[in-house]
Amino acid sequence: LDPQSFSDESKAVIDFIEEYYRNIEKYPVQSRVQPGYLSEKLPDSAPYGPESLEDILKDVSESILPGLTHWQSPNFFAYFQANASTAGFLGEMLCSGLNVVGFNWISSPAATELESIVVDWMGKMLKLPSSFLFSGTGGGVLHGSTCEAVVCTLAAARDKALERLGGGENITKLVVYASDQTHFTVQKAAKLIGITKSNFRAITTSFSTKFAQSPENLRAAIEEDIKAGLVPLYLCGTVGTTACGAVDPINELANISREYKMWFHVDAAYAGSACICPEFRPYLDGVELADSISLNPHKCASESHSVIDYKDWQIALSRRFKALKLWIVIRKHGLTNLMYHIRSDVSMAKRFEAMMKPEIESKGTELNRELLNAVNSSGRAFMTHGVVGGTFYIRAAIGATLTEEHHVDDLWKLIKEKAQNLFLN
Ligand code: PLP
Repeated sequence: LDPQSFSDESKAVIDFIEEYYRNIEKYPVQSRVQPGYLSEKLPDSAPYGPESLEDILKDVSESILPGLTHWQSPNFFAYFQANASTAGFLGEMLCSGLNVVGFNWISSPAATELESIVVDWMGKMLKLPSSFLFSGTGGGVLHGSTCEAVVCTLAAARDKALERLGGGENITKLVVYASDQTHFTVQKAAKLIGITKSNFRAITTSFSTKFAQSPENLRAAIEEDIKAGLVPLYLCGTVGTTACGAVDPINELANISREYKMWFHVDAAYAGSACICPEFRPYLDGVELADSISLNPHKCASESHSVIDYKDWQIALSRRFKALKLWIVIRKHGLTNLMYHIRSDVSMAKRFEAMMKPEIESKGTELNRELLNAVNSSGRAFMTHGVVGGTFYIRAAIGATLTEEHHVDDLWKLIKEKAQNLFLN
């Protein structure tokens, strides 16, 4: 690792990324390549000798960029936002540059301690009670994904329940509850910790409750399971479901969990960060009764160890110094700018809703599907679909870092243009 070539080559990569961002709106938002396209462009075995960065970047430009769906495009309205920022890039660079593996405290004390400080910052930004904070009786960890966080909380709940029930064979009695809008990751995580599909309940939601989880339906399912000799284990409530942004009644679900001695987890992956704004914080009311929340610190029994070994809080042993990135992002933006970004995204979503609402008319699944294809194949925007309450609908997830009001206006114009073409033909 020669410091001079490191500096020169990093500069070349930074210039490359700068150019990418300057041109980002010129690319079709959704990639147009066909499966297997890359093996036709790249050699099928590794080079014997070293290659120049110049050649490699040329291949990135000619072979990799066409195979990207441009998540950072301001015209990306699909799935969910994976927002980038200069602060985030700088944090990643420092993390890669220092390249420590902080699985326990002594393997890199700053990595562990900074993570504990930053997760407490996040907890305080979300006004979580002290039972979720290291400075109180809880604590948290930066996982790689929500799925990992859910696996860890489910495993903790399972072990606690099996201890209470007096034996591992009782695992077949344990039941996990969520709603039919809960992200699939919860069912996947339940499977990973040994809960079979037949012991996973997806409680039915409906249009009348805006697809939020129904405490009545939940209670009925729990009672039926208890009558059948099963044991309620774990309930997941969601703040912002992926398909339509539904918010489960956290307070009521928390109370039911307590009544039936279940672990209550709040999945706030999608909308939780909005709760740093006081006007959205009520969505988390009741979280003080939960056992864990993902995106944020999860509560754990604090034993009086003087240090944290984060390897025991996650699936893998090795871990990157991820806290450095989050720490830099929070510091470089400050709470005030983070709130500004969230409010501006919410206001753009409301603007889109206001433009769209008076003109929208249901035309059925097939036409919706064709309309979505027409919009996406134009390359000018990219949206995905959802199916909620049996209805196929087109989903516009607004909030990419570079999206401004005029991109949202253009999206509505594009949808109308494509709809007119379709419906007139
Ligand atoms: N929960 C919700 C509400 C989500 O929106 C998502 C992803 O979109 C997930 C869980 C899964 O997250 P991850 O990919 O981090 O496991």
